[in-house]
Amino acid sequence: MLEGKVVVVTGGTRGIGLETVRVMKENRAEVILFGSKKESVDMAISKLKEEGLEVEGYYPNLNQLEEVSSVFQKIQEKYQHIDVLINNAGISANKKIEETSVSEFESIIQLNVNAMFTVTKAVLPFMKENKNGVILNTSSMVSIYGQSAGVGYPTSKFAVNGFTKSMALELAPFGIRVNAVAPGITNTDMVAKLPKEMIEPLIKTIPLGRIGEPRDIANAFLFLASDLASYITGVILSVDGAARS
Ligand code: NAD
Repeated sequence: MLEGKVVVVTGGTRGIGLETVRVMKENRAEVILFGSKKESVDMAISKLKEEGLEVEGYYPNLNQLEEVSSVFQKIQEKYQHIDVLINNAGISANKKIEETSVSEFESIIQLNVNAMFTVTKAVLPFMKENKNGVILNTSSMVSIYGQSAGVGYPTSKFAVNGFTKSMALELAPFGIRVNAVAPGITNTDMVAKLPKEMIEPLIKTIPLGRIGEPRDIANAFLFLASDLASYITGVILSVDGAARS
């Protein structure tokens, strides 16, 4: 489905991002993953190599425009085009507001919102030059319903939706589509870190009767990245088993 396309996935070293890298590779894209540090990037690359999947990886600071731009410049020089950016890197939170410091709140916004802005800004000159592009953001079920603790996280994901819908309008004249996927509870390290007492009752309320798997989310990204979605932009696609929390 992605033959000849060049795809960049931030937060591509584990969880939803790593599975998205796999699915994109299985669909014949050239894939470049970004991670937060060299060790995790190297580990993801060698894990994929063992599976017969060759990818490149970088670890720019996603909040430094020049650093990210210079990586995109290298990618553009090598492949002559950058077709798909998936802004997936993210962190969550689960403390009540009284226990959350201002700097903890800010660090969530810094990655989930500011880095999405910076990485998008850095890729745009290349997508505009190529008159083609797809930008996909990882939102969350909590961007629709909120959540009862860790307010920085839903706050950031509401912003992801606003950014997605607004950029879709701004970039449509350039042939660039912008959409988001809003996963429900998905089986990754992010969820493994949360207390069982918090997660298990939530899973029981999911109408489809199971937790989401990273592949469920990756398949939604695949569809939105592909030409099958060529008339879809500004959409927040829920992939959550009809969970409503
Ligand atoms: P994860 O913790 O397994 O992976 C997070 C990824 O983000 C990693 O690849 C990591 O390298 C990267 N990352 C973290 N901090 C970074 C930093 N400072 N700079 C650069 N990269 C950094 O989490 P996941 O569950 O795979 O989450 C991926 C995305 O999906 C996130 O945006 C998350 O908010 C969203 N999401 C997850 C769930 C879920 O239930 N797991 C539900 C809804 C949305």
